[in-house]
This record gives sequence, C-alpha cells and structure tokens, in this order.
Amino acid sequence: MAPIETQLFINNEFVPASTGETFDLFSPHTGDLVAKVAEASVQDVDTAVSAALAAFPSWSALSPIQRGKPLKKMAEKILASTPELAELDAISMGRPVSSFFDTNYAAVHFNYFGEAAYAQGHTSLNTPGFLNMSLRQPFGVVGIIIPWNAPLVFFSKKVAPAVAVGNCVVLKSSEKAPLTSWKVAQWIKECGFPPGVINVLSGHGHISGAAISSHMSIRALSFTGSTRTGRAIQIASANSNLKKVVFELGGKGPALIFDDADLEQAAKDTENSIFWNSGQTCMANSRIYVQDTVAERFVEVFKKLASERKMGDPTKGEINHGPQADKVQFEAVNKYIDVGKGCGGTLALSDSPSPAAESKSLLIHPTIFLNAPETSRIMKEEIFGPVVVINTFTTEAEVISKANDTEFGLYACLYTKDLERALRVSKKLESGMVGVNCAAPTGCWDLPFGGWKGSGTGRESLLESMEHFTEVKSIYFKCPGIGG
Ligand code: NAD
Repeated sequence: MAPIETQLFINNEFVPASTGETFDLFSPHTGDLVAKVAEASVQDVDTAVSAALAAFPSWSALSPIQRGKPLKKMAEKILASTPELAELDAISMGRPVSSFFDTNYAAVHFNYFGEAAYAQGHTSLNTPGFLNMSLRQPFGVVGIIIPWNAPLVFFSKKVAPAVAVGNCVVLKSSEKAPLTSWKVAQWIKECGFPPGVINVLSGHGHISGAAISSHMSIRALSFTGSTRTGRAIQIASANSNLKKVVFELGGKGPALIFDDADLEQAAKDTENSIFWNSGQTCMANSRIYVQDTVAERFVEVFKKLASERKMGDPTKGEINHGPQADKVQFEAVNKYIDVGKGCGGTLALSDSPSPAAESKSLLIHPTIFLNAPETSRIMKEEIFGPVVVINTFTTEAEVISKANDTEFGLYACLYTKDLERALRVSKKLESGMVGVNCAAPTGCWDLPFGGWKGSGTGRESLLESMEHFTEVKSIYFKCPGIGG
C-alpha cells in the first residue's frame, strides 16, 4: 500500500507545511513506511492562531445550540468510521483494533458538549445595594497538545468542550500517532464548523508544540502527555504570557490487594490494567502490592493470565497485545527491563522467547518482576510499557505508606471485602482517582478525571471540562435602588 500523505488543516483547508517538510511514520509491527506526515513549523502555528483569532468573534457570538450542530454531526461521522479510525491507530502506533473504544468515547463527548455547553456563572445579592454576578466567557484561542496512546480520546475530550463554549482551537497531534486527528480534520468543514474554529497540526513537540506553548495569543492550553513535557510547557507558559495550563500527566499507579479480596477478580482486573495497550496507559497499575498471606496464589493466577495474551499484528481482531508504539518506546522499555533485572527483584515472566530474526515487530512480552526494592527505578519511574512489579505487604499502614511514596498520583485501586477498610484506605491514598474492587481504566463519564502531585493539574470530565476553557469575570453592579 502506498504511504498516506498528510497535510495540516488550517482555516478549513488542507495545506502542506510552510517549509514543505514532512517526516516518516513507520508501522511498529511491520516496519513499513505508513505515512509521510506534514511537519508544522513555527510559522504554521502562527498562521493557525491567526485563523483562530479571526474566527473567534463570530463563533463565540453564536448560541450553544448553534455551536452544537456541527459538534453533533462530528459525533455521527466519527462513530460511522470506527473500523477506519481503529486501523489508522493500529498501523501507526500498534494499538490492537480489538481494544479500540475511542470512537464511542469521542461520540459521547461531541454529542454531550453539542447539547450541554451552557457555561454559567453565579449571581449574588449578598452585598446591600449591589446585584453582583460572575460570567464565564471563552478565552479566545486555546492550544491543545495530545499524546499518542489513545489520540482520538484526547482529541475529543479537549476539542469538544473547548469549541462548544466558544473558543477556537489549534491542536497538535502526536508525531507517533497523527493519523486519526488528520482523518477527523477531513470532516470539520463538512460538519459545518466555520473556517478557523478547529485547526489541526501535526509535527514534533520541540517545534510546533513549543511554539504553541509559548504563543502570546494563545490564552489557555490543555495538555495530556508526560510529566517531563508538562514541566517544559509550564516553563514556556510562564516565560511567555502565563497562559492557563491544564495538565493530564504520567502515572505509577498502585494496586493494593488485601487478603480478603476476590483474588481471581483482582488478578484479572490488574493484569488487564497493566497489559492493556501493551502497558501504554497512564492510569495502569504498574505497582501491585499483595498481602503476604495470599501473594503466592495471586501471582500464580496473574502469571497465567499474562502468559495467555495473544500477541502479534494489531490489525487482526484476535490480537490483544500489540507492539510498543515506536522504536524509541521499545528501546526505553527494554532499558527498564534491564534495570529491573539488575535491581535485586525476581523476574517471573518475561519476553524470553526472542522475536524471530526477520521480525520487525516492536513487541515486548508481558514482564513481571517480584519483590523489587521500593527505591528501585522500576518502582519509582513511569515505564509506559508491559512491565509490572508485584511486591508484598503485611499491614494496612505499611501498604498505604508504600503506595503513597511516589511523585505520581493518578489512579490507585484496592481490593477488599471490608467496606470500612475500603473507605479508610481510599481516603488515605494520595491519588486523583481510586478504584474499589475495580482497576484502571474503570471510571465514569461524569466525575473528575485527573491526578494529584506530578500526575497533573485540573480535572476533565463531562461536568468539569468546560471550566478549563472559560475565564471567570466578577461584575459588581451598584444598584442602590434595590434596597438592602
Ligand atoms: P510526551 O510528553 O512525549 O508527548 C505528548 C505531546 O507533547 C506530543 O504531542 C509531543 O509532540 C508534545 N511535546 C513534546 N515535547 C514538547 C515540548 N517541548 N513542548 C510542547 N509539546 C511537546 O508524551 P507521550 O509519549 O506522547 O505520551 C505518554 C505520556 O503521556 C505518559 O507519560 C502517559 O502517562 C501520559 N498520559 C497521561 C494521560 C492522563 O490522562 N493523565 C493520558 C495519556 C497519556
């Protein structure tokens, strides 16, 4: 198949990068060239921001119902294209088509914000002689930078609320997985979004990502990605116009398995959590703590499940474990496996059968370490691959302390039948989300999604997300005639 050639989507037109530059995207399974992708320049970011600025006055003046019409059409287009979109992620970053839920997720978000974008402030009669009020108003131009592990999820959960409340956006997709964003861009004009409302760029972080982060006309930026890049964006924001930043960052999620838990269920859920999407999930429980009295049985069930994973070509429906996203990820994860082997823990199941010499697939088998030191790098750093550490504990206080001894705080989970313990431990875990007798990615649409500590700032969800994309203004309306 000839490689796909992508362009940038600016002001409702597809255009090549101003420099004419492209970069190559290779399948992580076959090694074949999949696409030649436009590399957005600093100038392209400027052009996209200018288009968004020009679109803002008339777009923000529409009612939520008027703005909602193209959003709802987009939901339909995305949902109707599920197989094609699943295939695009599979060939670019190796995500198995069998695990593709993203179009359903995207449609819920475009539909919801197409109906519900009534940003509201407060009114107050608490100051005698005044009618006071606060307004929520769009920022103008919002920057959006997304990662590669579920690109359509991040595209929709950010773009839909941002434009629904009246902003115009400049989005940059990930250089590892730009194809679903490029595909969705093909429907923006057709759905009825006016020129400049949604601009979709592709390219590398240090060029167009950095230009978005430091752009003086972008007033808010929503970012999902690594904690390292989050820091760089925070600095760029501080050094430019102090734009409002919302971060969804990395994780090192703990799972706490108490001795009264349903062990089979706990093993099933936690195995899925860490090995789903080949371990490339921010919320995954990469650290598992099992009470010592039941550890042997838990490990046995967990290992069996991991060894039953069906690895291979992510475009095939029967596969549930694809390759790592690209060579950089593959090498980074393998380095961590080497670090793990040298850190004093035990390797219980690994990628021992070497891939055939002719195989170009960047597959890494599920890898389990037992009893790694708490201070080791594999316990402290986000690996973002199919690598888990299973350690043991004796007391509740001990496991809470171990679980919280991390700079991350995205998703923790615990398994117990003791309701009071479940609530007590949930309260003490330093984490933005806690699963009780369920593990990541279990969640819900309408509660805040996001992390404590280095895992992020701000929260996203159907109910929360509009807040990021609106500024607040208090108006003190002196009105002596209304009385005290
Ligand atoms: P990344 O930080 O390397 O890249 C994310 C995006 O940032 C990409 O589009 C990239 O091009 C861009 N970028 C890179 N350098 C930049 C810079 N200097 N300025 C501006 N933009 C820049 O992350 P990734 O490898 O794409 O994704 C994996 C990471 O994302 C993991 O740490 C994972 O935990 C995290 N993640 C978090 C969530 C969450 O909701 N909390 C969800 C998914 C992924």
